[in-house]
Amino acid sequence: MRIGSGVARQNNLAEGEMAGSKQTTLANRAELSGRGVHSDQPVTIIFHPASAHHGIQFLRKGLAGGRERLIPSRHDAVTASELCTIIGDTQSGSVSTIEHLMAALYASGIDNLLIEIDGPEVPIMDGSSAPFIAVFDRVGLVRQDAARRFVKILKPVRVEHGEKYSELLPFARGFRMTVEIDFKTALIGRQKKSLDLTPGSFRDELQYARTFGFLKDVDMLRQAGFALGASLDNTVAIDGDTIMNPEGLRYRDEFIRHKMLDAVGDLSLAGYPIIGHFRSFCGGHRMNVSVLHSLFADRTAFEIVEERVSGAAMTDARPRAAALAFAPEAN
Ligand SMILES: [Zn+2]
Repeated sequence: MRIGSGVARQNNLAEGEMAGSKQTTLANRAELSGRGVHSDQPVTIIFHPASAHHGIQFLRKGLAGGRERLIPSRHDAVTASELCTIIGDTQSGSVSTIEHLMAALYASGIDNLLIEIDGPEVPIMDGSSAPFIAVFDRVGLVRQDAARRFVKILKPVRVEHGEKYSELLPFARGFRMTVEIDFKTALIGRQKKSLDLTPGSFRDELQYARTFGFLKDVDMLRQAGFALGASLDNTVAIDGDTIMNPEGLRYRDEFIRHKMLDAVGDLSLAGYPIIGHFRSFCGGHRMNVSVLHSLFADRTAFEIVEERVSGAAMTDARPRAAALAFAPEAN
């Protein structure tokens, strides 16, 4: 049964699905091509519908000797997470920079998908989650005959590094996120944002926020083999207190919004949507994944639940705020 296509219907479906009880997958296969922001390698992704309880898995092709490797998008498959989030390992096959795509899957309410990829890195597209969401909206979803599962936080878990921290706290009314960053440049400075996450609120508040980087770091990163594909087409570039992109920012506080987008993607490596409150201060990919490791290391800190979430937080009752400072391209 095909139950969604087009942005408006997809939005309704995704929100309904998060509040409701059935798993979903894509209605049809879909394809997308681009280049990796770090590797600069061209890559094609084919999204294949997958059966209930399959979860999100990557099928990494293009390995030496024609090998392929199936890699689940789960926290315990993460091998590196300094500049981006990587699953698998370089010896037997990996996929890097999965976070913006994983966030798009959350925003589309997709539980089950096989992501075939012929290179080492998910294409960066425009540096945000929006191009992936557009693909899923175009194809639409099907509801499956299996209850959606959630991971419900039962007691606080926390990881710290100096004054930086990430934590997950019980929060019965859905998935809340409070993220704060503090950068030396006055252009960013200290920014904090809290959001009750649903597919709808992700689309309203976060989906267009792009990755960002500092010009002063570029030479060092490139010498280390990173940021080889970074450009003003896929990254907000900061030179001192100046934004180098001629179009400027997409949101006044695009930086904190992108950090939240990253966290949504990383936290989806729990394998299920979260019912709880995620908070972080100056966190990043590594701490986002670390807090999941801590959570799943303590069997008393969580439970996997199927029932409908109580209260209204999993549906999106907030007014549609005019958060965007630009007009997104209609495509
Ligand atoms: Zn990012």
